[in-house]
Amino acid sequence: MTYDFDLFVIGGGSGGVRAGRVAAQGGARVGLAEEYRMGGTCVIRGCVPKKLMVYASGYSEMMDDAEGFGWKIGARSFDWGKMISKIDTELDRLEGLYRKGLSGNDVTIYNARAVLEDGHTVKLSTGETITAKWILVATGGRPFVPNVKGAEHVLTSNDVFKLKHLPKRIMVVGGGYIACEFAGIFNGLGARVTQFYRGAQILRGFDGEVRGHVADEMIRKGINLRLGTDVEEIKKRDDGLHVTCTNGSSCVVDMVMYATGRRPNTEGLGLEEAGVKLGRQGEIRVDRFSATSCESIYAVGDVTDRLQLTPVAIREGMAFVETVFNDNPTAMDHEFVATAVFTQPEIGTVGCTEEDARDDFDIEVYRAAFRPMANILAGRDERMLMKLIVEKNSRKVIGCHIVGPAAGEMIQLAGVAIKMGATKEDFDRTVAVHPTAAEELVTMKEPVR
Ligand code: FAD
Ligand code: NDP
Repeated sequence: MTYDFDLFVIGGGSGGVRAGRVAAQGGARVGLAEEYRMGGTCVIRGCVPKKLMVYASGYSEMMDDAEGFGWKIGARSFDWGKMISKIDTELDRLEGLYRKGLSGNDVTIYNARAVLEDGHTVKLSTGETITAKWILVATGGRPFVPNVKGAEHVLTSNDVFKLKHLPKRIMVVGGGYIACEFAGIFNGLGARVTQFYRGAQILRGFDGEVRGHVADEMIRKGINLRLGTDVEEIKKRDDGLHVTCTNGSSCVVDMVMYATGRRPNTEGLGLEEAGVKLGRQGEIRVDRFSATSCESIYAVGDVTDRLQLTPVAIREGMAFVETVFNDNPTAMDHEFVATAVFTQPEIGTVGCTEEDARDDFDIEVYRAAFRPMANILAGRDERMLMKLIVEKNSRKVIGCHIVGPAAGEMIQLAGVAIKMGATKEDFDRTVAVHPTAAEELVTMKEPVR
């Protein structure tokens, strides 16, 4: 049978765009449908605008710190509208680059929603029907808001990038990546921030000490972090949103942002009809090559709910192309994926937490907590935290956790060493770069007792 395309990609986000472009560069005839904006979550309403906002929010502390070094900073104010308009311009530029990258490689772009009809056929919202030998589902995910009373008054990360002004009093609900990053952003930009998290400590799944350290610093910076607290009901009144908490207390804010996880975009996609099996949260079930239960359909990225990170979606997309178009079965390696959380202070982490490692291995923990040089003259008490988790028998470093300025930058490089199987002794014989904070990573001598 002849098909319209060798590959049809549903979703123009991190995973879909990369897979489509690379397959086309290899000679495949590729079509791609995107229903919103090219670039997907990462470029349009995720990593990129978020990181730009993190930068914007960091200037308030930087200006405070500058005074400690002799600068005199005059009156300051922050213009939310200007920041949003500059970010929008940058996103337009990036979206244009994504489109160019595809069309320049002869990928046919459809600005439409695509739904599967069977294993080789998609129907577009424009009315067209298209056939392809292979179909890649890369539809990502969307914010999930629990069924709380008054949920119609809350915003999610999708909405905050479009706010016309910065609300004065903000409540953030959740204790994961997005909640903690946005609590820091709003706080740095000058809003009064309350964060509710239902559990005992934010950032579940991260190293215990890292979680405590970040929570303490967030509180010290002015975030009203309320642990073991959830929302009972939200009512809209003239003076703002009245939030009643599960412990009976209440507060009034101008905006409530929910960051309580994300769900895969699989609803109404025709997956069941095409024979694609879903998991309990609606995620597409795939094997290690990203193959679904329908032979001609693969899925990559957030829609498969493995690791919801841009570089992971990209790698899964490239592994798919290797497997299907280059006759080279390639499984994405999800082990030792380094990641950063752009909280303030920032986290960089790779490998096992101390808690997980203790369950599985005989370990040594090396730890340094110190005030980085820049904070001394700045008069800032904030400390950095670094931890190495070492497996005693092999001496391999199986975890590295950093909290503090540039932690995300540092962990990328620590990630290379750890992925290569570096031992503690490899770290030790690496000469320090001085004076830096990163040198602590190679100068930790004694394990914690
Ligand atoms: P997406 O990028 O979500 O792309 C899916 C695309 O499919 C979307 O454009 C959607 O419109 C389209 N689509 C859906 N259904 C259809 C359909 N039926 N037809 C046509 N098109 C369709 N990750 C990091 O690594 N670092 C970060 O700092 C980071 N920050 C983040 C901050 C926020 C606020 C959020 C929400 C996420 C962040 N992430 C971050 C996660 C990252 O954005 C995702 O892991 C990544 O975008 C997933 O890529 P994807 O290709 O799977 O899906
Ligand atoms: P996360 O899964 O990280 O966090 C969700 C949070 O919401 C958790 O604290 C969870 O609590 C809480 N929660 C879940 N359900 C409820 C509920 N019904 N009521 C109250 N609280 C609830 O999701 P995010 O939305 O923050 O982010 C989604 C993903 O996007 C991340 O996992 C990450 O992979 C990616 N991302 C990556 C970033 C980066 O790389 N820097 C930045 C932003 C996002 P509990 O822990 O108790 O379950």
